[in-house]
Amino acid sequence: MAQTLNGKTAAITGAASGIGLECARHLVGAGVRTFLIDRDAAALDRAVAELGPAALPLVVDLLDAESVAGMMPAILDRASGLDIFHANAGAYVGGAVAGGDPAVWDRVLNLNINAAFRSVHAVLGHMVQRGSGDIIMTSSVAGVVPVIWEPIYTASKFAVQAFVHTVRRQVMGQGIRVGAVLPGPVVTPLIDDWPREKLEQALAEGSLMQPAEVAEAVIFMLTRDPNVTIRDLVIVPRNLDL
Ligand code: NAD
Repeated sequence: MAQTLNGKTAAITGAASGIGLECARHLVGAGVRTFLIDRDAAALDRAVAELGPAALPLVVDLLDAESVAGMMPAILDRASGLDIFHANAGAYVGGAVAGGDPAVWDRVLNLNINAAFRSVHAVLGHMVQRGSGDIIMTSSVAGVVPVIWEPIYTASKFAVQAFVHTVRRQVMGQGIRVGAVLPGPVVTPLIDDWPREKLEQALAEGSLMQPAEVAEAVIFMLTRDPNVTIRDLVIVPRNLDL
């Protein structure tokens, strides 16, 4: 039987923009007290002004280990516990390996892999102690299908998938559910960095999704029967051309 989210507490990273912000809108709309975590303080201010008192801003730079370590204590200063954690923040890089800039790759890999894993580590101890909690990671369809023109991004999301599968098994039976949402291309500032011709082709074909479609998928995952393991959910436009 589906469960209600009303009265729960959630935290989402990368919540000042795009998919994270839309997921925050949906959670707040479902009666969830939601910590919006991001490094962009000004964008967070705008988001909480829109969402009202159930939205709580938390400025964290996920690339800074100390900042991440302070995340859970800051949540517990204002809430008695954390029911839902959505590790969503991520960045994009595409293009040919031969012409790529390894310094840019490092930044993307650090955010999409290291920071994402570190953020889950930061909340997992609390959830294990409570014996409950749901963790969602924003992966990508590029986490299961190699996308030829974005090898570094694809590698980062394959790593996320490997992490989700293994952590899910590690915490199985402890009241904690772990799942990933794997969207196809979504209209957010992230795809501003797409190769121009790919963007134009996708726009012409109508193969871009809206953030709300991903947020609806996340709400579906979180409202499933608490006794059901959260599976990974791929959500792509019908005419996606990888
Ligand atoms: P976005 O650029 O709109 O939002 C990313 C957010 O992350 C921003 O608010 C940014 O400030 C924040 N952020 C970046 N670095 C940070 C840091 N060091 N510390 C804290 N916050 C930081 O991007 P989006 O499209 O909403 O992407 C969200 C997730 O969805 C990413 O993991 C991305 O890989 C994934 N995704 C996006 C698409 C797409 O087409 N947009 C498709 C599949 C998966």
